[in-house]
Amino acid sequence: MNRVILSTLWDKTPGRNNRVGRPQINGNQQIINNSISIVNNSTPFNALRLEQLNELPCLLSSQSLDSRGRPQRSMRVIIDGTPRKINFRAYHITWMAANGPILPDHPPQYSHRCHQPLCVEPTHGVWESDVDNKDRNRCSAQSHIFFQDYMIVLCPHTPCCLTPLILTTSDSRVVPLHNPQQ
Ligand SMILES: [Zn+2]
Ligand SMILES: [Zn+2]
Repeated sequence: MNRVILSTLWDKTPGRNNRVGRPQINGNQQIINNSISIVNNSTPFNALRLEQLNELPCLLSSQSLDSRGRPQRSMRVIIDGTPRKINFRAYHITWMAANGPILPDHPPQYSHRCHQPLCVEPTHGVWESDVDNKDRNRCSAQSHIFFQDYMIVLCPHTPCCLTPLILTTSDSRVVPLHNPQQ
């Protein structure tokens, strides 16, 4: 529901931010301004070392969480002529600022390719069906395995999940197949 309200803001002009003494701004500018604030208050997180996949690090939101642990951001909007404050998901706002409006024919679920529910990095989000969203659960632990000289892709999804496991020969999970000393 809030996603629908959010998408209708995009081209609305003016009056989204209609507090007395504040300049009136377009809905899309309001979304971009809020996205900048969300990103500036987030923390880069690159324990996953996503440069191995030529991807940007996660940006973990510091916004308050809703009852299901999702980062939220309140914005003033006008619904049926009445100004209201409504909570939107922080990653929907950053996604829209980067990509434009969420269209009615976008699939219903926002999947985090990085499996980090706080992440607001827009390139880590993808809209897809409920079935596709749930199917990504199988990649929550590892989407790829990196060895020293090669990499195995486990993730079957497009675009791929971003949970690589990077193994080095010093990792206790790497066991030699034979020991020349024996
Ligand atoms: Zn992420
Ligand atoms: Zn996957």
